[in-house]
Amino acid sequence: MSQSKLTYRAVHAVGPGKLELADKPLLDPQLGYVRIRVEACGICHTDAATVEGVFPIQWPRVPGHEAVGKIDKLGAGVQGWSVGQRVGIGFLGGSCGYCERCRGGDLVNCRNREYTGVQQDGGYAEVMLIKASGLMSIPDDMSSVDAAPLLCAGLTTFSALRNSSAKAGDLVAVLGIGGLGHLGVQYARHMGFEVVAIGRGADKAELAKKLGAHHYIDSTAPGLAAALQALGGATLVIVTASGGTAIKETVKGLRPRGRVIMLGATAEPINV
Ligand SMILES: [Zn+2]
Ligand SMILES: [Zn+2]
Repeated sequence: MSQSKLTYRAVHAVGPGKLELADKPLLDPQLGYVRIRVEACGICHTDAATVEGVFPIQWPRVPGHEAVGKIDKLGAGVQGWSVGQRVGIGFLGGSCGYCERCRGGDLVNCRNREYTGVQQDGGYAEVMLIKASGLMSIPDDMSSVDAAPLLCAGLTTFSALRNSSAKAGDLVAVLGIGGLGHLGVQYARHMGFEVVAIGRGADKAELAKKLGAHHYIDSTAPGLAAALQALGGATLVIVTASGGTAIKETVKGLRPRGRVIMLGATAEPINV
């Protein structure tokens, strides 16, 4: 896209289930915002909630909350960021800094937060306007394509592991080896845990081992809880997939004081 062009291309949702390619006017970033040229954007399952209108969407809306790009313009009042810097933005589109939750250090629950791709246009576009308080800097040695999925799927699994009470050497299970789980297994291995991958069927075993899992358990075979107990019982289970029965089994596979962290709960009931 040439710099003189005053529009940029974006894919926006115009109604439930309907995405269209559009030319949008190139606007300057407002106070506290930056404008980026998007280099990569991951596709998250939550984007479907924007596209299908499950979120309170004002059409049209550009989905995408795993975006990486270079800053090409700073709005007034933006400090600590520079033009040309490569940055990323996730689902949390930045905090206000003045509400009582922000002042208490709980930026994630900012009362004035706006979600990327929900209240603010997201990264299915050549250009994005982003609140500077939501930016993350991207290391030079990581490609934009590799960094993008870490901004939601990666952050979700990494935060769960990092904020858990499990310590290196503990048995940690990752239930579901999909978009979140395949990252969770890699993080868990690199954080020094003894890693159990739990997937549906035997065909995910090879991938799970390649990603760093020490053990693999097929959740469709009987004896999931017993298999975890045979390994000593899990200190932590990260649930990244739906499936009430498998979740119930992992609870029975915990060691005393073990914990289950649910990432992405569904409407399906879990009987424990
Ligand atoms: Zn997401
Ligand atoms: Zn706030």
